Amino acid sequence: MTREDRAAGPEDRALSGTQEPPDGRRALDALLELQDLDTVISQLEHRKGALPERQQLARVAAALRGVEARVSQVEVSRTALVERQRALESDIAAATARREVLEQRMYAARGTPARDLQAMDDEIRHLRERQDQLEDAELEVMVALEPLDAESAALGAEKTALGTEAGQLRAALAEVETQIEAQLAVQRVARTAAADAVPEDLRDRYESLRARLGGTGAARLVGNRCSGCHLELPSMEVDRVRHLPAGTVVTCEQCGRILVPTSSPAD
Ligand SMILES: [Zn+2]
Repeated sequence: MTREDRAAGPEDRALSGTQEPPDGRRALDALLELQDLDTVISQLEHRKGALPERQQLARVAAALRGVEARVSQVEVSRTALVERQRALESDIAAATARREVLEQRMYAARGTPARDLQAMDDEIRHLRERQDQLEDAELEVMVALEPLDAESAALGAEKTALGTEAGQLRAALAEVETQIEAQLAVQRVARTAAADAVPEDLRDRYESLRARLGGTGAARLVGNRCSGCHLELPSMEVDRVRHLPAGTVVTCEQCGRILVPTSSPAD
């Protein structure tokens, strides 16, 4: 029992009875039906709010965001390397073209002064060295790209798998939500009918208790126990309550809820 449970008004504190009209028992039965429906509705709403599929979907969505963030990082690194590779290939092609021109000119050049031939030979050697350096650099870039390509492929596969899982979870979630909504719709219709059968003053009292006491405003007296707070009442009080005229509105002195004796002490 909570402190709040104890915070019933003074008029509610005692097992005090007030006489109801002759149809009071029917009103109390309607009140219990209303409470039962409210309990079912609360349970359905709670279930809908705490569906495991929704938590799983949130986990999958978070994993997907993580994968996408890593994909972006890998892509930035890959793009830089790919651009570097293209630039190196372009430089290699330029050096090769220039060297081939010089080589052709050298082999075709009879009577070219030895000084010029030497200059061309120097440049060809220089271009070969440059080409070797560029090719080494390109090889380094390709080696650096390999793990990024592998990671990119793995991330792509992971993203696809997570996307599929998210889709399945969304479908499962929608299905369960639809089922619960349908059950809620039925229960709410029944609730409206049950509420109409409870006299207004009793209903108002029930609603204010329900709002204050965790969704339960009316409880059954089962044996000598209140089904709202699950505490036992003194046997003399139980005896007194059970012998009150049918339909008398009784308040549990432990929790302040409306206490309705069940028709037999054991049920
Ligand atoms: Zn109680």
